[in-house]
Amino acid sequence: MNEKGKERFQDSKRASWIEGVVRDFLIHSPDNTLGNPAADRAFEKVIVGFSKGDDPLYDAYKELVGPFHWTPWEIFSKTFPGLALQPGELTVIAWVVAHHPLTKEDNRQETFYPSERWARARIFGEQVNEKLRRHVVAALEAEGYAAVAPALSPEWERKASEKYVFASTWSERHAAYASGLGTFGLCDGLITPLGKAVRVGSVIACIGIPPTPRPYTDHHAYCLFFSKGLCKQCISRCPAGALSEAGHDKQKCRSHVRPVTEEYVKAHYGFDGYGCGLCQTGVPCESHIPLPSEGQ
Ligand code: SF4
Ligand code: SF4
Repeated sequence: MNEKGKERFQDSKRASWIEGVVRDFLIHSPDNTLGNPAADRAFEKVIVGFSKGDDPLYDAYKELVGPFHWTPWEIFSKTFPGLALQPGELTVIAWVVAHHPLTKEDNRQETFYPSERWARARIFGEQVNEKLRRHVVAALEAEGYAAVAPALSPEWERKASEKYVFASTWSERHAAYASGLGTFGLCDGLITPLGKAVRVGSVIACIGIPPTPRPYTDHHAYCLFFSKGLCKQCISRCPAGALSEAGHDKQKCRSHVRPVTEEYVKAHYGFDGYGCGLCQTGVPCESHIPLPSEGQ
């Protein structure tokens, strides 16, 4: 094997190692729980993708999302000002974790408020995702690779965006899109091979890993409405009238989630939380990339 071949072999070994770090956490960590007395698992399946720090999509996000959206190099340089690195030396490691089948099943039955499991997954599940980000950063650092989870950076902020209304300095879903993991649906959720009832996370590291091929060129490729003019089932699932053929009205969605579901969750489930996800469950894209036959 020549030097280039050896390098590629090392790169793909690093990819498998990182995938193992993520997978092992979800399988073995007692932290993967909905926080209920039975300590039910929050997430079951996971997929991991990679994109290069100098992928042109990250520059394009400055136009598409807003000029405030970081490139991988920007947040990495803010975090490690002493490291002089080129954008191409960085890899974005992104993952998609699927909600547990029981969580999806419960929410499928709902027509207005979230099920208890779903509300728990929104709050305690995201805490699991935060721990996963920290775990991946720690595993990389233990092997000598500098790493940062942008969404956990003290510099991370929410931003108003002309196009997206609510945006932030780092979008996990856009990192996952760039890393070959999925495309956007009518309700703005990411439709992935594990479906849209998922949560998404990412870490940026100074490590060489081959990018995951993106099996799409259109950011709406997997949504049956945008690709085939079919489906629209998420529109009728939305209890807030926030979805239409024109897309996702984030203001209406947010007003439903908080305070409407927030008050309900506190009163009926006994914890401070909120959530909805009706457009993510009971729809053809819930647990896989939907087939045209499912959108009729
Ligand atoms: S339910 Fe149908 S229209 Fe809505 S995001 Fe999924 S595939 Fe697209
Ligand atoms: S999260 Fe709920 S309120 Fe928001 S778009 Fe989806 S179904 Fe509608």
